[in-house]
Amino acid sequence: MKFGGTSVGTGENIRNVANIVKNNSKKGHKILVVVSALAGITNQLIHEAEEIKEGKEERIQEFIKELTEKHLQAIDKAIENKKLKNETEVDVKKIIEELEKILIGICYVGELTLKTKDQVLSFGERLAALIVSATLRDYNLESQYFSGKKAGIVTDSKFGEANPLMNFTTHQAIKRIKPLLEKNMIPVITGFIAANQDGVVTTLGRGGSDYTATILGVALDVDEIWIWTDVDGIMTSDPKIILDAKTLIGLSYGEAAEMAIFGAKAMHPRALEPIIKKQIPVRIRNVFNPKNPGTLISEGAEVKSIEVVKAIALITDVSMINIRGAGMVGAPGSYAKIFKILGKNNINIMMVSTAVSEANISIIIKRNQLEKAISTLEIALLGKGLGNKVTSEDDVCVIAAMGANMKGSLGVASRIFTAVAKKKINIHMIAQGSSELNISFVVKERDGPTAVNAIHEEFNLSK
Ligand code: ADP
Ligand code: ASP
Ligand code: MG
Repeated sequence: MKFGGTSVGTGENIRNVANIVKNNSKKGHKILVVVSALAGITNQLIHEAEEIKEGKEERIQEFIKELTEKHLQAIDKAIENKKLKNETEVDVKKIIEELEKILIGICYVGELTLKTKDQVLSFGERLAALIVSATLRDYNLESQYFSGKKAGIVTDSKFGEANPLMNFTTHQAIKRIKPLLEKNMIPVITGFIAANQDGVVTTLGRGGSDYTATILGVALDVDEIWIWTDVDGIMTSDPKIILDAKTLIGLSYGEAAEMAIFGAKAMHPRALEPIIKKQIPVRIRNVFNPKNPGTLISEGAEVKSIEVVKAIALITDVSMINIRGAGMVGAPGSYAKIFKILGKNNINIMMVSTAVSEANISIIIKRNQLEKAISTLEIALLGKGLGNKVTSEDDVCVIAAMGANMKGSLGVASRIFTAVAKKKINIHMIAQGSSELNISFVVKERDGPTAVNAIHEEFNLSK
């Protein structure tokens, strides 16, 4: 069972989590728990570390105080037993002292490398797992707390977006975690964080706790993986944008992967990778509505729908880069050059579109990488005789319409774009992958929700 940030956002919610674990444990299930940082903590750690790097030394004490208070408050509400409460408070303070030293280091060196950033980020999950494990003990369950590293998850050294070494991880997880499960102990493991082969902390990318759950699920060959979150499952669209979005009760691995990759935030984009081969069923369920069975992801679980479009995602926080220039026309390797430069600088390309005239290529990347991407491209293309001009727009968003039935169906694109055009929304870029499982396009960010709504209505998704 993996519990996301909102599931463990407050002491009361942590008790709710403990209740869910206890009820399922009583039914005879052996359970391994993976937890995210308390809601908002990862964002705060990133933000504060950036500020402190700029030399704002006074922020260190203020932030440490806020962080301590937030976690002590959670402990106070989550744990009833006095002795357990005191012990957990002491442990939390000890961990936060360690963070304080790292922040002082960052402040004085004035540098925040990806490696150090992963160190800082690891504290959110470390604190959460410690508190959740203690709360389970408060519920008279036997539980032990582990960091992803201690649980045996080993990755490469791609800090900020590390990849698990599955064979090694499996070997270690079986040795370290399996014996505990056999003794009916409930291990609580930090999501999101792991370590490279040298034992240095790495992270699996934002939202990576889902990935931790599937990595461990595969390593330990579990029967099912349950991702507990704050909505009823994977829905036809983000329920925060589309109020009458409906829960999809069943999805195939392919469909779910497509949705996750295209930003249905309910799941980390790579979380399904390890389990597809093993075909372990995954359920997405709501901690605030545990009676609801949620979404089942498994082969053959997909629900046949009459409509070709099953779900629509809105991906914000992206930017569009346009590279124009006569120099690209008929010049073999000019696209390769662009991709190579971006790849070398760790800039992930989310979407691409080109015109047959070859004089223009549009690329979508994460917004926080825009400055780096533009400067890199400018430097690299300077003097290459391509005569290129690089421009960008950072107030755009991507909309992706998905569904396995789209493959081979006629007129889907026309229905999507007519629905959007009727709302007088201008489309800036379009891409359809050869999988034909989705059509993605770009509009101004302010038009995003209206466009999603228009397509949701056109394909009757709230029915
Ligand atoms: P957690 O903290 O549990 O990992 P996340 O915030 O990462 O939760 O993901 C859950 C959120 O994803 C929901 O609250 C919802 O607003 C958003 N979301 C976006 N698209 C979808 C979708 N298609 N179905 C369900 N939730 C979605
Ligand atoms: N806490 C991490 C994040 O916010 C990991 C997760 O929540 O899955 O990205
Ligand atoms: Mg998440």
